[in-house]
Amino acid sequence: MTILDGKALSNKIKEEVKQEVEELKNKTNITPGLAVILVGDDPASATYVASKARACKNAGIYSVEHKMPKTTTQEELLETIDKMNKDEKLDGILVQLPLPKHIDTRTVLEKINPLKDVDGFHPYNVGRMVSNLDTFLPATPFGVMRMFEEHNIDLQGKDVVVIGRSDIVGKPMASLLTNAGATVSVCHSKTKDLNSYTKKADIVVIAVGIPHLLKADMIKEGAIVIDVGINRLDTGKLTGDAHFEDCKDKCSFITPVPGGVGPMTIAMLLKNTVKAAKLREKRENKC
Ligand code: NAD
Repeated sequence: MTILDGKALSNKIKEEVKQEVEELKNKTNITPGLAVILVGDDPASATYVASKARACKNAGIYSVEHKMPKTTTQEELLETIDKMNKDEKLDGILVQLPLPKHIDTRTVLEKINPLKDVDGFHPYNVGRMVSNLDTFLPATPFGVMRMFEEHNIDLQGKDVVVIGRSDIVGKPMASLLTNAGATVSVCHSKTKDLNSYTKKADIVVIAVGIPHLLKADMIKEGAIVIDVGINRLDTGKLTGDAHFEDCKDKCSFITPVPGGVGPMTIAMLLKNTVKAAKLREKRENKC
């Protein structure tokens, strides 16, 4: 069994990003810039935003943390995004989710200029991803794909079960795996017999938000388990959607929580920000 160490790989990617940023600055004078908008005072969201800002700083990326009160109207948020769309120094704009209930997430995400949509959630970029065209890939599934690549895990013809069908993890994960030649089943809360899918799967990717949902008796010998879930137990400990201790000896590869998929997400966001800055460079060179 091999533990897929997302922490180590994310550090390697962050180093790659740092070098890319330096090269870009030397060659073009462009400093990649990322704005993260946080509406409200959800502590978990505030922690994510702070760690994104810290990661940007370490990589030499200019970052703006734009905090707005939870009473912010949808119109005010759309105006802020509009200003950022026009701001030359910002290559990427990210709206931290979830948003307060009175704001329509889809309308907000569609307001972001697709060329600055480093989260890859704009329908334009979602469409490009499904069509296997070059685009900004959503950071979490992008990170999982990079883990497969790093460990030479061949996806062609593999039976993969993705548990969870959210727009930010499950659905894009299934698209990327399909494009990579895997045979993908997407399971969710309405799936009749989850075990019948997971037991046959070469790879299980789980993104549900229920601690320890996936157990050893649900997977086959030698399966690969990718655990996207991040759940905080009453004890304060973080745990995944898979029961790591129970599953690990049956797996060929497994990601731990924490230290698996989680750290990859921020690293891939940095990658996307540099990609966006390179698009700016291309635009400026054309003028
Ligand atoms: P979500 O709540 O939007 O979606 C959950 C999905 O799980 C839904 O599609 C639902 O149908 C499915 N589901 C619920 N109960 C189920 C059951 N009993 N059996 C099968 N499917 C079931 O969640 P999300 O935003 O995709 O996040 C999922 C988990 O991943 C959460 O723990 C979240 O914190 C974590 N997450 C981690 C990262 C990361 O960087 N590692 C990024 C995003 C989300």
